[in-house]
Amino acid sequence: MNNANSTKQNRCPVYKKCGGCQLDTAYPDQLRFKQGKTERLLRRFGRVEPIIGMENPSHYRNKVQAAFYTNRSGRIISGVYQSGTHHVVGIDSCNIEDEAADEIIVGVRRLLPSFRLTTYNEDTRKGFLRHVLVRRGFQTNEIMLVLVTGTPVFPSKNNFVRAVREQFPAITTIVQNVNSLSTNLVLGERQTVLFGKGYIEDILCGCRFRISPKSFYQINPVQTEVLYGKAMEFAHLKGNETVLDAYCGIGTIGIVAAKRGAGTVVGVELNGDAVRDAITNAKANGLKNIRFYKGDAGEFMEACAEEGEKCDVVFMDPPRAGSSEQFLRSLIKMAPERVVYVSCNPETLARDLDFLTKHSGYRVKKIQPVDMFPHTAHIECVVLLTRDSL
Ligand code: SAH
Repeated sequence: MNNANSTKQNRCPVYKKCGGCQLDTAYPDQLRFKQGKTERLLRRFGRVEPIIGMENPSHYRNKVQAAFYTNRSGRIISGVYQSGTHHVVGIDSCNIEDEAADEIIVGVRRLLPSFRLTTYNEDTRKGFLRHVLVRRGFQTNEIMLVLVTGTPVFPSKNNFVRAVREQFPAITTIVQNVNSLSTNLVLGERQTVLFGKGYIEDILCGCRFRISPKSFYQINPVQTEVLYGKAMEFAHLKGNETVLDAYCGIGTIGIVAAKRGAGTVVGVELNGDAVRDAITNAKANGLKNIRFYKGDAGEFMEACAEEGEKCDVVFMDPPRAGSSEQFLRSLIKMAPERVVYVSCNPETLARDLDFLTKHSGYRVKKIQPVDMFPHTAHIECVVLLTRDSL
């Protein structure tokens, strides 16, 4: 009997150990599961539209990172930390990661011994290579390789870089990032460009974006176009609106809005590298009506609200922890006609929608889940709120 509800994909040999994917059922079942969960959490605010899934839900990740480790028999392993541990599970290829990125990571691993380069040991805090991060622009095919090292000293640096480039001519930039702290963060503060321009560019919704090693960039560009398309539809820009892009990263949503006729766009973002990218991106896309500020979105909103600033549309796309009460209270004060909330965590989204609907006249008009992360349990939603009188 073929019961679709219990169809296991069961293709990945390290599904359990890796923990990167949490769902191993057939893709239509995954979508049903996500729809159900979104409805349980958000139905009380209004109808949840059917989730928009991916046509081809494999190898969608444009950013891949691998931890490096040497086992007791001296073999170098690259892969991911087994969930909750510091044990590296070896991974050469992955169903959701970009295939070119996976090949580069394996290639770097194979080159290490001939250059006598070691891997970093987190216990002894000795050794060299800690992580490798690869990002590819799916539209431009530019590829960035970031070698995260435990020490700034890079023996045989030039020869190693030459060897990597010979083997992978598609790589357009190589960066060394130094992370000598005991931390769960992959990237450290200091970095040096070893080859190329130090960033890649990609095209999204017809706009060009620069992406630095440390800037946030959506990891599934195919579905990002769907997500932003919905966000723009909900914003219903007619031209000349004042738009705020809060938690703007490298400015993607605001820049797409500016291209679609927004009068003035203001973006705010905490990460300095991302803000620098956003400013460059606005220029590269020929936009003069857009400004970006570095800072906490809540503090920025409070300052705007206190000064009596007004805007027509607010896009907000906070991290998994959701927004802050300071942000939401100031948002209510600024009273934009439309709020487009892009969320990667329906739990914190529900909490923030509770606050907004209880403390103001805002009502939820549309809830659209988009599957940005097939095979994982993560759920992305875009929600439209308008004021009661509208
Ligand atoms: N809208 C962007 C980025 C969304 S990810 C896009 O679609 O690509 C969330 C962003 O919020 C990250 O860039 C993160 O650096 C930023 N961020 C996190 N906490 C913040 C805060 N308190 N204030 C402003 N930005 C913050």
